[in-house]
Amino acid sequence: MLLRPAYAVEYDFAPPTQLWPSLESRRVEGLFFAGQINGTSGYEEAAGQGIVAGINAALKCRGEPPVVLGRHEAYIGVLIDDLVTKGTNEPYRMFTSRAEHRLLLNHGSAEIRLLPYLELHNLIPPSRLQRIRSKVAQVNGGRRR
Ligand SMILES: Cc1cc2nc3c(=O)[nH]c(=O)nc-3n(C[C@H](O)[C@H](O)[C@H](O)COP(=O)(O)OP(=O)(O)OC[C@H]3O[C@@H](n4cnc5c(N)ncnc54)[C@H](O)[C@@H]3O)c2cc1C
Repeated sequence: MLLRPAYAVEYDFAPPTQLWPSLESRRVEGLFFAGQINGTSGYEEAAGQGIVAGINAALKCRGEPPVVLGRHEAYIGVLIDDLVTKGTNEPYRMFTSRAEHRLLLNHGSAEIRLLPYLELHNLIPPSRLQRIRSKVAQVNGGRRR
């Protein structure tokens, strides 16, 4: 029987349902939120949101539309969609079971799935871009065979 919790981590957070899917505040234009302040737990979740919020803050400054990853494209897409549409009552963790398209989502295919964003927004150096493009060509060649 549990008499009282021996240990707990508690912190305040800002309701993530007040964010656009770009992670910009709906209330304060130009203010982006990422990480624990959005009710998530863990540095993977914080880093995933951080890169999206950072990219979108830069795109906002340039007057360009934001990057919003789909649930079928990336775990980050699932994470942010869950947060901004459902909110959370407890520190949110990114479990594979939360992703309905999880058979498509694995680290080996991440750079292929996200290649259009990498190209469009110039997010990685040309040498790495080239390596990914040749990986895509090899995969497509294998499929054709
Ligand atoms: C002991 C411990 C163990 C953990 N172990 C794990 C683990 O094994 N795996 C895991 O995934 N996660 C772990 N975590 C959780 C993980 O570290 C956090 O979820 C993650 O660091 C949150 O990142 P964040 O960027 O949202 O916040 P933080 O990393 O807390 O960053 C917030 C930053 O804002 C700064 N700041 C605060 N107020 C102001 C202000 N007014 N002006 C300017 N700057 C300000 C702070 O100094 C800080 O640098 C652990 C946490 C702790 C404490």
